[in-house]
Amino acid sequence: MTNEQIIHIAHQLGFELVGFSKAEKLKDEIEHLQIWLDRNYQAGMSYMERNLDKREDVSKILDNAVSVISLGINYYTDHRHNQKEGYGKISRYAWGKDYHLIVWQKLDQFVDMCKEIDSSFQAKTYIDTGPVLDKVWAVRSGIGWMGKHTNVISKEIGSWFFIANVITNIEFNYNEPIADFCGNCTACIDACPTNAIVDEYIVDANKCISYLTIENKGEIPEEFKGKFDNWLFGCDICQDVCPWNIKFPQVTVEKEFYPRESELNLIEFDNMTNNQFKKKFADSPISRAKLKGMKRNADFIKKQYESFS
Ligand code: SF4
Ligand code: SF4
Repeated sequence: MTNEQIIHIAHQLGFELVGFSKAEKLKDEIEHLQIWLDRNYQAGMSYMERNLDKREDVSKILDNAVSVISLGINYYTDHRHNQKEGYGKISRYAWGKDYHLIVWQKLDQFVDMCKEIDSSFQAKTYIDTGPVLDKVWAVRSGIGWMGKHTNVISKEIGSWFFIANVITNIEFNYNEPIADFCGNCTACIDACPTNAIVDEYIVDANKCISYLTIENKGEIPEEFKGKFDNWLFGCDICQDVCPWNIKFPQVTVEKEFYPRESELNLIEFDNMTNNQFKKKFADSPISRAKLKGMKRNADFIKKQYESFS
């Protein structure tokens, strides 16, 4: 089985980016992760502390692992937030249907198509749901470099793409990581309203609006009052200001990523029941925050208005 065959399949399924890495142990990367964890920058995401052995060594996931194929799929559309009073902004990645549902289906098709070419093809596939360092593999495979905001950036399509990884038993020709094209730029660090990018390439989740409005199970600390810029679910500021996203925006060909809602009414959650929430957001990434989280986020933004009035 050749790189070209895999690239052809990936492109047929809509993955714009494809790269190949040898399934080696991630020694340096695990050391960096450990330092980040020791500083408690993972905040409440305790799952990051688990399965470090698998994160370091993908052969603990697929015992005959030889390669990792990294795939990137663009979700950018040229829609813009409509800054209506009383509404909170949704992060771009959550405007359409839940990307897991879209990409899982594509990954199943990807594996089936690979097996048609080579019946010995074995694979474990991931899109940010397992003990796999998605961004690390993407960088190793050369599909992009790690930006100072810690999102992977492609020279071709910027950073508005989802990363999937396929651990497989087949050998390929491997790519080299590409250069870091951030250069002297610090736009993301300067623009972050909560100073969550505590150093180049290091984000403290405790301060990140994305974490605070999605994964966070507790209250939003008062110190962030007035700093949320109306973000109700996630935050795109550091990616919005990145010159690589401004220079080369390319609209996705995947219609299911097209926006359904990019902002929500802040009073929408006041009287919503759990059943209504589940029904409305059943196939949306917003379900991740649960009704309780969305109510908390909406109340936090509403409080900011009150403090300004
Ligand atoms: S997502 Fe928002 S809060 Fe988090 S690092 Fe980027 S700009 Fe800062
Ligand atoms: S805004 Fe500048 S420093 Fe930040 S990721 Fe983009 S290019 Fe790198």
